[in-house]
Amino acid sequence: MRLFCFLFVLCVGFNFATADPTNPSKIKVVIDAGHGGLDAGAQSNSILEKQIVSDVSSHLKELCNDKNIEIVLLRTEDKFMSLQDRIAKIEALSPDLVISLHANYSSDRDRNGVEVFVAENEFTVKSSYFGTKILESFKRKDFKTSALQSANFHLLKNLKCPAVIVELGFLSNAEDMKYLNSEFGQKFLAMQIASSLN
Ligand SMILES: [Zn+2]
Repeated sequence: MRLFCFLFVLCVGFNFATADPTNPSKIKVVIDAGHGGLDAGAQSNSILEKQIVSDVSSHLKELCNDKNIEIVLLRTEDKFMSLQDRIAKIEALSPDLVISLHANYSSDRDRNGVEVFVAENEFTVKSSYFGTKILESFKRKDFKTSALQSANFHLLKNLKCPAVIVELGFLSNAEDMKYLNSEFGQKFLAMQIASSLN
């Protein structure tokens, strides 16, 4: 995977396009829990990325229940879903934002922290706006974060709406695992994303 630095424009005062005409401030956010089924994603002993991101996405839905945000979970079961399926399902929902959740793994066990990616396409400015807000909410809680990164991942590149990929931490790092592999930590991770949607 080749990553490169990315200059983004912070669009101050940007508002969501209205998803629900009867409730102009209500926004629809699709949470895409990565992997599923035979595709476990990253793995550390018996701890699987697909399970972690699914748990975090459920917490996120709960946390946003009383906010003016409609959270739609793309994957609620432990089932394989191809990228094409994901894209088709997301398009049918026409969301205002897609947050694809993942967990990282590195042979460098010291590598840790939260990373956020956006694609370079017509939605870059909007995606970057949300990506930056997510990073800032983690930073406020003293999480290690890197600058917003650009990556033309298939999912990001092909969606016709603002979208970010959030790598919640490294399964290969002992500190990150405390968050990734505990209910407390998973709720905490979900809380930071939820607070960035305010
Ligand atoms: Zn992943």
